[in-house]
Order: sequence, then C-alpha cells, then structure tokens
Amino acid sequence: MSEAYDGGAVAALRRIAFLLERAREDTYKVKAFRGAAAAILPMSDDEVAAAVADGTITKLPGVGASSAKVIADAVAGVVPERLAKLEAEHGGPLTTGGADLRARLRGDLHSHSDWSDGGSPIEEMAFTAIELGHDYQVLTDHSPRLKVARGLSAERLARQLDVVDAVNDHLSGTGFTLLKGIEVDILDDGGLDQTDELLARLDVRVASVHSKLAMDAPAMTKRMIGAIRNPRTNVLGHCTGRLVTGNRGTRPGSQFDAEAVFAACVEHDVAVEINARPERRDPPTRLLELARDVGCLFSIDSDAHAPGQLDFLVYGCERAEAAGIDPDRIVNTWPQERLLSWANG
Ligand SMILES: [Zn+2]
Ligand SMILES: [Zn+2]
Repeated sequence: MSEAYDGGAVAALRRIAFLLERAREDTYKVKAFRGAAAAILPMSDDEVAAAVADGTITKLPGVGASSAKVIADAVAGVVPERLAKLEAEHGGPLTTGGADLRARLRGDLHSHSDWSDGGSPIEEMAFTAIELGHDYQVLTDHSPRLKVARGLSAERLARQLDVVDAVNDHLSGTGFTLLKGIEVDILDDGGLDQTDELLARLDVRVASVHSKLAMDAPAMTKRMIGAIRNPRTNVLGHCTGRLVTGNRGTRPGSQFDAEAVFAACVEHDVAVEINARPERRDPPTRLLELARDVGCLFSIDSDAHAPGQLDFLVYGCERAEAAGIDPDRIVNTWPQERLLSWANG
C-alpha cells in the first residue's frame, strides 16, 4: 500500500533534490531532479497528468526515467518511492545538538548561486531560504579573482544587484528579503577584490582568503588584519581555510597570529564566521574558544552552494552552543534592521 500524497510533482522533485543536497550527495544526481522540476514548472497539473498518461513526459528536456517515475506517482496521488526512501534515510535531524540556537537564527550571511560556483539559480536559493523560515538570506557570490569559481566581475555583480531587486519584488509580502552581498577575496596585500564603489552598494560583505593559504604566519596575519581594517568588511569568512573531510580532500589551516587577528575583529566590529560546512568546521575549536574569550562577534553561516545546503546552519549552531557562545553575540540572531545598521554603520 502506498501512502497518499497531495504535494504535487514539482514539490516532490524539489524535496528530493533538497534532501540529496542536504545529505551532501553528488550534485549530478541532484541536477536531474532540479532539471525535471524546472521542466514541468510552467505546465498545468492537467498537462503534466496528460503527459504521464500518454508517455510523453520523458520527451520533455530534463525529464529522465527516475524523475518521470516520481512525477507519475505524484500525479497518481501516492508518495513517490524515491521520496519516501530519502525521507527515511536523510529527512531526520542532522545533529543531536544546536536546535535551540538554530531556532534563534533569523537568516544566513553566506551563500552562493549559479552565478559563481553554486548549483542553483538565485530564486531557488531564496525560495528554499523562505521554506527554512529565514527572514533574510545574504547572497554572497565570489569576487573576480576566483576564476575557478566564476567570480563575478564588477559588471556582473552590478547586473546581479538588479536581479536581486527583481527577486525581492516578486517576494514582496512574504516578509523575506534577499540581501545583497559578496564573498570577496582577501588579496595577498590585505586588499579586497572588488571596487569600493560596488562594495558600498552591498548590504553585507564576507571577506575570505582563498589563495596562498600556506603563506608564512606574519605575512598571513598582516594580510588578514588588512582586510579586517577595511571599513567595508563585516565578516571574516572561514578564517583558517582548513578542510577536514569531503571529496576535495583535507588540508591544514593557515598559520596566523589568531589573538591579533581576533583582537582586530573586535576593534573593527567584524564578526568571525563559524562556517557550518561539515568539511570546513572553521574555526577549529581552539580558535573558536579564543575568539569567544577575546570578545568577538560571530556569524553562523551555511556557505551553501545548493539549496539543501542552506540547512547546514545547525552544524555551526551545535559548535557555538558547545563553546558556550552568547546568542546575542551571533549577528544572525539579530533582526534584519539591527544587522543592516551594524553592517553599514
Ligand atoms: Zn570561501
Ligand atoms: Zn563561500
């Protein structure tokens, strides 16, 4: 006996993709379901049902055999087998801790769309952020120098800002805002990899080191403090750059004078990011506790590169709770107005 399902085929496909992304499955598998959802989105329920009935559903570009089966089940009003299996395997809580703090987060300051190295369009990231209950999501695609991640030139970023305005127009009345941001590379000399004029037009700026992670500690310290002193910088992204697990392999964190870097963050009102990605867990616990003791603000960020990864926040919450960090020192527990006045004060 199959369980009844009335969510519709698009919702079933999106939920499957969400669960796969959240479980850090291969993006190739996920793309098939997201592509199929996009293919049938413009069709009416009757059109989809007719295409299932006459077998032309798999002729639609982007709809393969496994997506067609999901669509057929949803149209028939039964829970698609693939969905039921994924809900059972991956639908539960990601962690045992962090739930209380997670409930206090109002948004997320670090996420990527397919304009840089993310896997989904801007609006899909926004829809999922709404579904997760966020009041705001900051879109932070990469800056020009990060060519492997299709970092945005000044021209592309300027164009993206217009797209963000258009997305927000569509979402008016939802109470949700997609905020304008950037994950800007910290250059070797501590400068930021985007024009000051564009940085000034953004709501929130995350500054991160993505190159020459192994430079010697005095040079790295100087480089990081240079970025922290820049009045545009709001968040110091994944401060050590370490990778602890995952398909990109592992690498040790950068060496720098953490006490000096965190003291500069306090002085210049820059939040230290608690990067929630399981392969980063950055900063390491020793540094997280040091930043706590030095008096830093924090931002718990998903650094999502796909909609399902927006749910990673709870991993960061679990670590922040374990470190005993006061929720009021975590800037994304703040309402949007307070966040924006802090970021642009
Ligand atoms: Zn980064
Ligand atoms: Zn990022």
